[in-house]
Amino acid sequence: MTRQRRKKIHYGDTHLKKKWRTKRRTKDLDEINEDIKAKNCEQLLNQEIDYDKPGSAQFYCVHCARYFINEQALKEHFRTKVHKRRLKALETEPYTIEESERAACIGSWVEPQKRKIETQKPLETSEPNKKKIRTE
Ligand SMILES: [Zn+2]
Repeated sequence: MTRQRRKKIHYGDTHLKKKWRTKRRTKDLDEINEDIKAKNCEQLLNQEIDYDKPGSAQFYCVHCARYFINEQALKEHFRTKVHKRRLKALETEPYTIEESERAACIGSWVEPQKRKIETQKPLETSEPNKKKIRTE
């Protein structure tokens, strides 16, 4: 999937440039929709160490399909606007063929389901530090 800019556009059109930029282009929502299914999700969160990826592919946000260099960066990302917007966008169920048929008066109209999307649980690596602190 390569997208190239065919026409020279005005230098002030940053929002347009961002839309077509391929450098930081990640997966589309329908692809992520597949990823957040329990089985795939687990696989993505427990990836093998890959030194070509940022943070050796150990810190991954499923919803945004992005790698982070460390746990701190990942946690900070969870609090950002980009991430929250992503979760919101994933809340609505994806468009299906059934839905298009319903729109064409085949069958009865059912509103797209809303589902609860939650940020993945914090990584277990941060736990041992907490256990060391004793309350006496
Ligand atoms: Zn994210």
